[in-house]
Amino acid sequence: MALIVQKFGGTSVGSVERIEQVAEKIKKFRDGGDDIVVVVSAMSGETNRLIDLAKQISDRPVARELDVMVSTGEQVTIALLAMALIKRGVPAVSFTGNQVRILTDSAHTKARILQIDSQRIQRELKAGRVVVVAGFQGVDGKGNITTLGRGGSDTTGVALAAALKADECQIYTDVDGVYTTDPRVVAKARRLDKITFEEMLEMASLGSKVLQIRAVEFAGKYSVPLRVLHSFQEGPGTLITLDEEESMEQPIISGIAFNRDEAKLTIRGVPDTPGVAFKILGPISAANVEVDMIVQNVAHDNTTDFTFTVHRNDYNSALQILQTIANEMGAREVIGDTDIAKVSIVGVGMRSHAGVASRMFEALAKENINIQMISTSEIKVSVVIEEKYLELAVRALHTAFELDAPAGKTAE
Ligand code: ADP
Ligand code: ASP
Ligand code: MG
Repeated sequence: MALIVQKFGGTSVGSVERIEQVAEKIKKFRDGGDDIVVVVSAMSGETNRLIDLAKQISDRPVARELDVMVSTGEQVTIALLAMALIKRGVPAVSFTGNQVRILTDSAHTKARILQIDSQRIQRELKAGRVVVVAGFQGVDGKGNITTLGRGGSDTTGVALAAALKADECQIYTDVDGVYTTDPRVVAKARRLDKITFEEMLEMASLGSKVLQIRAVEFAGKYSVPLRVLHSFQEGPGTLITLDEEESMEQPIISGIAFNRDEAKLTIRGVPDTPGVAFKILGPISAANVEVDMIVQNVAHDNTTDFTFTVHRNDYNSALQILQTIANEMGAREVIGDTDIAKVSIVGVGMRSHAGVASRMFEALAKENINIQMISTSEIKVSVVIEEKYLELAVRALHTAFELDAPAGKTAE
């Protein structure tokens, strides 16, 4: 008998009919003899609806109260699913994050899980019940409700699987696995049978929202077998694995990720003296703004240009800070640009192949797409381009790296 944690995302529990379908599916697993812990998201659109409500009261709602509110979405779906299971004769019980004591830090709206007390769940499982836990939420040491960041139910699922030493954590969603790139953007995207944790982590952090980054981190750290599957279609899905097979067949690139959430800031004509980078980025980081890519140009006339990217939500505050710094330093000007996108190619195969970046640049050049910034690591190359070319760039790279699915084998 296996213990399986199954997480169902927003669209999979998006209506009462879907919740009934999910209950049917869980019943089948149960009838097969497995112990099941289920994690659910709020109904699709519900978390956004709640955030919009808060924004009608205040542009910047108090984070503690926002968490009290957005956590209600998941409280509805756990109860509905438990009812649907009980109706089918499957003993079930629902719990909020607080009730199972998913203990987090106090960073409201982006809390991190510190500890899970699995005793209560273990007791319920022993009593033969399916345990349904609210995703995305926890409680801090002082009893405040916290949430784990958008997409956080994935992390609840993986963290529970780690705490319970489950045999597998299954993430059920509206696609039948992890694809070479978002199948909603590139019709020729191909489902991967396997992807390494390392690659999945890069894909997630570079914009592929099929799994929350922290869920992948957790799964890697605690070696939780993790699989992404379609909620309502049969199939093997995608296994996130530790082993990196050394085969000749290994593709150089496993996937292409993209992100529209960044903005670019440039401070021009900065005096080229020691400590410049710190003078610019110190106040930015002191304002809790995370910087992603950074480029500093070679100096001429004893001045230099300094460019970096931040999350679009932080753009306005970063711009203000930068303007103040520019005045203090006597820099020439500050330029901002929100119409950018980041495209990244990811693959452990890059380690053993030369010329990957140039192949990427060649494919973009052929489409006349200008590259504004570049950054590389051992298993990824990222470029910043004008946002309007994003989809063209992703499709061109998908073809250039031979990732396209054969005709007739696409997602939908
Ligand atoms: P859920 O509500 O089940 O958590 P999400 O919307 O968070 O679902 O994640 C699933 C979506 O992720 C898919 O519908 C797909 O559009 C998107 N996605 C982005 N990149 C990928 C990828 N590489 N493979 C599969 N899906 C991807
Ligand atoms: N309901 C939350 C969200 O929409 C958490 C999740 O779905 O994973 O972000
Ligand atoms: Mg999700």
